[in-house]
Amino acid sequence: MELCERALAAHGPILFLTGAGVSAESGIPTFRGAEGYWQVGSENYHPEDLATNAAFRRMPEEVWAWYLYRRGVCRAARPNAAHLALVEAERTLGERFVLVTQNVDGLHVRAGNSPERTFCIHGNIDLLRWTDEHPRTRPLPEAIPVDWPKARRLGEAERALLQRPGGTWARPHVLWFDESYDEPLFRFESSVSAARRAAMVVVVGTSGATTLPSLIVEIASQRGIPLVCINRDPSPFTETAAQAPEGLVLFGSATEYLPALVRCLTG
Ligand code: NAD
Repeated sequence: MELCERALAAHGPILFLTGAGVSAESGIPTFRGAEGYWQVGSENYHPEDLATNAAFRRMPEEVWAWYLYRRGVCRAARPNAAHLALVEAERTLGERFVLVTQNVDGLHVRAGNSPERTFCIHGNIDLLRWTDEHPRTRPLPEAIPVDWPKARRLGEAERALLQRPGGTWARPHVLWFDESYDEPLFRFESSVSAARRAAMVVVVGTSGATTLPSLIVEIASQRGIPLVCINRDPSPFTETAAQAPEGLVLFGSATEYLPALVRCLTG
């Protein structure tokens, strides 16, 4: 593919930007499907309402239960062909490889991508943070069961692990919808800098609803570099790629198109 050849002949990173669609074929639901909803009492919450600092302050135990359930789903999942293609891309491209992921499931690193070149811009569901220890993150305590049924709520034991005697809560290490990116926790400047230097941006399985990914795609389109978008459905990103001078849209699944694209880049 000529687009790949031009990108390889140029200088700068090949930036891969991934979203929940990459892990959908590993069995982890995206935020767009019916499974995204979460029931608290008689109320049905949409992820955009629950994944917020405001919701956590109002009902920390319910928000924790949602994350503990989702952590179990993530841990039970295995990397798919799209994750493995990105491992091969890093192996071949070396220092030219950058992966910016919105996924909190940890599957890219579990598949074999290096933590150094994988920017987890929305955090990691296996980690927590105490509010008075910014920017330190810690693994969730081992005593908290990984297999967490959907209906299970926090008990005394979990409460004691996630809340200090004074009442301060630990929180999941994720970026919530009413919070801002930064460098120490979420690699904001590193991601923007990589986009400004990139020879090519490849966007996979993201709906385009969050701000740093939108900025990366905007930078790529303004710079006129090759911009490839792989998605099952139309999105703001597929529209931008369709209009970009060096844009290409591949409508279909991540496991179908990403390995083929990586073969073009690593051939
Ligand atoms: P999203 O749920 O908003 O969108 C997913 C996109 O992927 C959609 O456009 C959909 O059409 C597409 N898609 C679904 N299956 C696909 C497949 N097999 N191949 C290709 N494309 C496919 O997800 P998002 O854009 O990543 O953003 C939402 C937020 O949700 C992020 O903040 C992210 O942190 C969080 N989230 C993460 C996970 C995870 O870690 N696996 C799962 C759900 C949500």
